[in-house]
Amino acid sequence: MTSEEDALAAVLARVTALPSVKVALADSLGQFAAQDALALRPLPAFDNSAMDGYALRADSCRAGVKLRVVGEQPAGADRGLAIAAGEAIRIFTGAPLPAGADAVIMQEDVSREGETIVVQGNAEPGEFIRRQGSDLAAGQKILFRGERIAAQTMALLASQGIGELKVGSAPRVAIVSTGDELAKPGETPKPGQIFESNSIMLRALTLAAGGQITRVEHCPDNLETMIEIFRRGVQGDAFIISGGVSVGDHDFVKPALRALGAEIDLWRVALKPGKPFLFGRAGRCCIFGLPGNPVSAFVTFLKFVRPALLKMEGAAEEFLGLRKVTALLASEVTNPGDRTHYLRGRLDEGAFTLSGRQESHALFGLSRANALLRVVARGKFAAGQSVTVETWD
Ligand code: AMP
Ligand code: MG
Repeated sequence: MTSEEDALAAVLARVTALPSVKVALADSLGQFAAQDALALRPLPAFDNSAMDGYALRADSCRAGVKLRVVGEQPAGADRGLAIAAGEAIRIFTGAPLPAGADAVIMQEDVSREGETIVVQGNAEPGEFIRRQGSDLAAGQKILFRGERIAAQTMALLASQGIGELKVGSAPRVAIVSTGDELAKPGETPKPGQIFESNSIMLRALTLAAGGQITRVEHCPDNLETMIEIFRRGVQGDAFIISGGVSVGDHDFVKPALRALGAEIDLWRVALKPGKPFLFGRAGRCCIFGLPGNPVSAFVTFLKFVRPALLKMEGAAEEFLGLRKVTALLASEVTNPGDRTHYLRGRLDEGAFTLSGRQESHALFGLSRANALLRVVARGKFAAGQSVTVETWD
C-alpha cells in the first residue's frame, strides 16, 4: 500500500497546469495568476497630502505664526502651485503637494482669518505628506505566478492601471457515481436501496476548488454500461468516480478503466478513511477513483483531488494544501491502526472537538465538521494538547 505522502506526490507528478487564459481583472477573484506582474508606477504616484489642511514650509510653521494663504490645491488636476517662506496653500487629502512645501498642517490646528491662517503648533518636515514611492517602487514585483488572486491584490493591480491579466483555466470535470443500491434523490428507494449522496457533494467540492462541471451521471454495477459511461467521463481534464473501486465482486471500476485502455498509476493508500483510492489517466484526463463511503470520498477529495485540480488551475505549491490552524484538542485521540487517520471535528474559537462517529459511512458527524485532524499510524494526542488541524471553510 502506498503512503499518503507518496500517493500525493505520484498524483501531482502527473498533473500539469492547463493553458492560461486572459481575463478582465474584475473576473479574476480566486483564480491563480499565470504571470508575474511588476509595478509600472510608484505608489504613491506623486508627493501628496495625507490630510485636509494647509501645505507650508516646516521652518516657517511655529505656534502663533501668521501665514498668508496664496492658493488652493484640491485632489485632482495639479495646479502647479508653489509657496515661499511665510506662505501656505489650502490643500485636501490626496492633492499634489505644491512646490516648496515640505509639510502639511491639519485644518484643526489652525485658525483661519480671511486670507491668512494662524498656526497653533509646530510642524516637522514631512509631516502629513505621503511621499512618492514610499509604499511601492516602480519595477517591484506585485503579483507572483501561481498566487491566488484576492480582493486586495485586485486593488493593487487596479492601482497600476492593469485591466486584464493571465490566469489559469478551470479544469473540466465529469463525475460518475456507481452502485446498484443507490436511488436518486426524488425517486422512491426500493427495499435495500439508499439515496445517492456522493455526487452532489463531489460536485460542490469541485466547484469550490475552482473546477467546472461538464457532466454528472450515475452508473449501475454493470461492466458494459460502466465502460460506456466512463468513455464519456474521460473526455475532460478530470474524471471523478465514486464507489466500485474496492475488492468486492461488484467493484467494476478497475476492469472498466482497463477496458478503456486507461493507465492505473496508483491504487490503495495507507489512509483511513480512503484506503481504496485510485488514480489513473486516459490520454490527458486524470482519473480519480474515490471510495463510495461518503466520509472516505470527502477526505480523499480534499487530500488528492483538490490539490490536483488546483495544480491544473496553475496554483503554486503553497496553495495546494488545506489551511492549517493550531488548536487545543478537547479530548484524547489515539490511532492504534497502521494507516494515517483523518478524524473529523469542529474547530471553534481555537478548540478542536471530534464530531460524531468516526466511521467512514458516518455522514452526520461529517456534516457538522469543519476541520480534519491527522493522526499518524499508532499516533496519540493528549487532551488539552496543541495540535494542527486543517480546515476547508
Ligand atoms: P463501494 O465503495 O462502492 O463499495 O461503496 C461503499 C459504501 O458506500 C456502500 O455502503 C455504498 O452503499 C456507499 N456508497 C457508495 N456510493 C455512494 C453514493 N454515491 N452515495 C451514498 N453512498 C454511497
Ligand atoms: Mg459500490
